[in-house]
Amino acid sequence: MTETAGGRFGGRVAVVTGAGSGLGRAAARRLVDEGAEVLLLDRDVASVQEAASELAGASAYELDVSDARAVAATFDAIVERYGRIDALVNNAGVVGEQRPVHRTTDEMWSSVMRVNADGAFYVLRAALGVMVAAGSGSVVNMSSSSGLSGKPHLAPYGFSKAGIVGLTRTAAVEYAAANIRVNAVAPSAVRTPLVEAHIRAAPDPDAMERQMESQSPMPGMGTPEDVAAVIAFLLSDDAARITGLTVPVDGGYHAT
Ligand code: ADP
Repeated sequence: MTETAGGRFGGRVAVVTGAGSGLGRAAARRLVDEGAEVLLLDRDVASVQEAASELAGASAYELDVSDARAVAATFDAIVERYGRIDALVNNAGVVGEQRPVHRTTDEMWSSVMRVNADGAFYVLRAALGVMVAAGSGSVVNMSSSSGLSGKPHLAPYGFSKAGIVGLTRTAAVEYAAANIRVNAVAPSAVRTPLVEAHIRAAPDPDAMERQMESQSPMPGMGTPEDVAAVIAFLLSDDAARITGLTVPVDGGYHAT
């Protein structure tokens, strides 16, 4: 629990996609700590149910964000039950297999795009519809330092996460007059299951870990909680005049 516990999101409804693991789960926990009723969405039903059982005031929904119809149906069900959505953490994502561009197959490309691009769009569209009807709302999309700088062997991921920056700016401008703010965070190497898998998949995992730990000016790697704190800030009224921004949470990596 933080100093601000029980405060900023009291009485608010928040939706977190990809909430079963890593950054999504940490963001959900932070929002619960700050008073929100949090709906946890993930295609991995076991992980999201486990996450919900840890958090008072959280409910789990099974959802594959790359299924446009399922996204619409889930948001309809949420609105029917809760009446509104005040905050969205649009986080569900995959990294995909790592290959040089010329060895990246159509299927590798599209499997990442279906989740990170199409899925992020379907979820954003559904949430914005609800927020427009309510006259307010706040969104944080999940970008990545791989969307702001080049990282080898991550072409589909980097493309999709750079796309999130553009989608965030576009939606921010479009919905500013509707009292809806749209921002993004761009974390670098944070110790999540996704990053652990990235390290394990490398030809030399130890070297990859050392390299990731030495990437940013600040030593070591960030934690999911570091990112969750920035997400909560951007979603909260403390960030009332911030929209369209992608905030690096990277120990200074983006400054290099
Ligand atoms: P991160 O480092 O972003 O936290 P994780 O792999 O730990 O990465 O978490 C990503 C979450 O997104 C996982 O819980 C995963 O099940 C979820 N996810 C991945 N693809 C989808 C999808 N198509 N629909 C919903 N959730 C998804």
